[in-house]
Amino acid sequence: MTDLLNSTHDSTHPSGQDPAGREQSRPPHVIAPGLAARLARRALTSPGAATFDCVTPMTGGVLGTIPQSSVDDVDIAYRTARSVQPRWAAVSVQQRARFLLELHDLVLDNQAELLDLIQLESGKSRRHAFDEVLDVAGVSRHYARKGPSYLATKRRLGALPMLSQARELRHPKGVVGVVAPWNYPLSMSITDVLPALLAGNAVVLRPDNKSALTALSAVELIDRAGLPEGLLQVVLGDGPTIGNAVLERADYVMFTGSTATGRKVAAAAGERLVGASLELGGKNPMYIAQDANLELAAECAVRAMFSSAGQLCISVERLILHEEIADDFLAVFVPMVADMKLGPQLEWGIDMGSLISADQLERVSAHVDDAVAAGAKVLTGGKARPDLGPYFYEPTVLDGVTEEMDVCRTETFGPVVSVYRVADDAAAVAKANDSEYGLNASVWTRDTARGRRIANQIRCGTVNVNEGYVAAWGSNGAPMGGMKQSGIGRRHGAEGIQKYTESQNVTVQHGPGFVIPKGMSQKAWARMMTSGLKVMKKAGLS
Ligand code: NAD
Repeated sequence: MTDLLNSTHDSTHPSGQDPAGREQSRPPHVIAPGLAARLARRALTSPGAATFDCVTPMTGGVLGTIPQSSVDDVDIAYRTARSVQPRWAAVSVQQRARFLLELHDLVLDNQAELLDLIQLESGKSRRHAFDEVLDVAGVSRHYARKGPSYLATKRRLGALPMLSQARELRHPKGVVGVVAPWNYPLSMSITDVLPALLAGNAVVLRPDNKSALTALSAVELIDRAGLPEGLLQVVLGDGPTIGNAVLERADYVMFTGSTATGRKVAAAAGERLVGASLELGGKNPMYIAQDANLELAAECAVRAMFSSAGQLCISVERLILHEEIADDFLAVFVPMVADMKLGPQLEWGIDMGSLISADQLERVSAHVDDAVAAGAKVLTGGKARPDLGPYFYEPTVLDGVTEEMDVCRTETFGPVVSVYRVADDAAAVAKANDSEYGLNASVWTRDTARGRRIANQIRCGTVNVNEGYVAAWGSNGAPMGGMKQSGIGRRHGAEGIQKYTESQNVTVQHGPGFVIPKGMSQKAWARMMTSGLKVMKKAGLS
């Protein structure tokens, strides 16, 4: 642990200086004095509020203290958001989009501070924290460029060709409530907020307390990018009280978290008849066919399973191997996992960081211990590493996992993967689909057509062929989300912004339209309309 006290030099920061204001000689697992208080000023809280100690899972040390919002504060946040939203909605989409391109640059230019905060709050390695910077920049750029066309008024075929002029308009919902989890402190806190704002909504955001400093830091960048005041309200607090209060008042609900909480959120939204998008859990499969590039697949599997110590909703927890290559693959893959460099350093070069909390450590240990007690074999890993930090756990590969073990079907949300062997693609698809979840999958084969065929049969919202998760996640023009118990709704692409709008059909009728001409009987009119419909079909009109 002595190297923890050494300074970190981050060459990614343009100035070479620590943006959080730390001296190079400061211990790395602290933040600048006053930073937490400064960031917390961006949230809506009241004097005398309760407080929350932000702890870094890297060491268990306190980073700073932030105040907590009350339900009254949530009311104030909504009142303010509702008062400014109509003016924002009246601004053109092109003008609204400007802040996103600014944000793109600000996030890239201020990545050193963001990476430090992400690492300190979540415990993940710098490489995995960088995924979040890439994600936010990519989503900002995508919606800045494509958002205007996703939201543009579209001509639609009218009831009577030429005479009924139909237009599809998109109006903002009003105020969107966003509850974000802790596992991707930067990405999860703001990538759902950005399209909601671009669509002309105001947003009330409740980031998880465990990732609040990163979220607030990102919100500061959004302010600097030029988002008008009042449109993005931030409240801080627990899920059941403050998160719930945010979603209860929203005109549209955006929730990311577990399936169990998602069900409650969906039920409450259903009761109020407001729309909801739910990004929930997974038990994601990776299938390696016998013609796969095993070296590449193994390297990718390490990332796909152990990014953010497996605390990633699209992380792979089930490794399905074609029996012909199973042993060869494991001979390459298992030593790679065993060689992973773990540690709490805020530096590049570490392969995996810490779990976020004692609860997560307990959950991961319980899954492995239960499996081992029931006869599973640990191919590598299987132990906590308190020598590295309070919540470190080794990347773990289990073989011989059977139905009665918790790890077989329940999401671990940690660095644990179970190996299964299959005889052919059909058995692989059946195994991949044998889950209540349907979030993400990965398929490895040198034959692209075969990969597409297999992907087509897998009931998951994203399938990556010859990648683990990044390819589909980073393809911002295409939708991403869960089938089955993994969620409702999608982020990214057209769906990821249109969900924050109400579509409206405005049709202008020219000519007599549906008025029966004077002197014509209803029966004759019906005959005329019937012939008209037949002509429309012949003409190929839809
Ligand atoms: P969780 O459901 O317990 O909590 C998620 C968030 O919801 C937390 O911030 C929590 O404070 C808040 N919350 C809890 N009860 C609430 C309520 N009644 N109303 C409003 N908010 C409430 O989940 P967790 O265990 O903290 O997070 C891990 C889970 O999240 C995993 O299942 C993971 O797969 C899932 N997740 C999914 C995605 C995705 O995009 N599909 C992304 C990240 C995490």
